[in-house]
Amino acid sequence: MIVAKSFTVRLDDLFASTGEIPDTTIAIDVDPAVTYPDPQSVTLLHIASRHEFDVMTFELFRTEIEDHPGRRAQHVIESFPAVYGDVERALGVVFAKPKRVKCMPPWSRCPRCDEPIWPKAAVNMTATMQAKVLRDRPHPIWCLNCGQRFAYEDDRRIRMQDAVDPEAIAADLARTHTQPSVTVAAS
Ligand SMILES: [Zn+2]
Repeated sequence: MIVAKSFTVRLDDLFASTGEIPDTTIAIDVDPAVTYPDPQSVTLLHIASRHEFDVMTFELFRTEIEDHPGRRAQHVIESFPAVYGDVERALGVVFAKPKRVKCMPPWSRCPRCDEPIWPKAAVNMTATMQAKVLRDRPHPIWCLNCGQRFAYEDDRRIRMQDAVDPEAIAADLARTHTQPSVTVAAS
């Protein structure tokens, strides 16, 4: 899966005079099922996307991130002090422990960047379908926008900041809203 971010890049006189607009998007290929090093790379990208780059530093940064995806986070952080600031603090963000999500599935949002974490399709499903999908496939395990890892009780239950049980609520909704259809076989 590709995660792409566009960056703010300050053009220097050379670029400004040629009228050339450089491509300011950085894209990396990630595996949403692994907990290292892909979420950490996405966090590095997310932090950097809030920084305004000059052209030369941006190209160095792009090479670092796109061409050396497995490189240790500490190396990247130390190579770009203007982007990441204090090394210990940046490492603390990159390796933050899994956190509980906001709101119950499928409306859950990332506790760090507030992005919705379930696909739009899940939001439009019926309550019973949602319960089934989230029970059978409780991923994602980390935020594709900022790299924050999410906390799970076990492999099945995502942890929420407010203690509610999505399956119980879904089951209640299904009971309340579904009229049973009865088919009587002709004898
Ligand atoms: Zn996030």
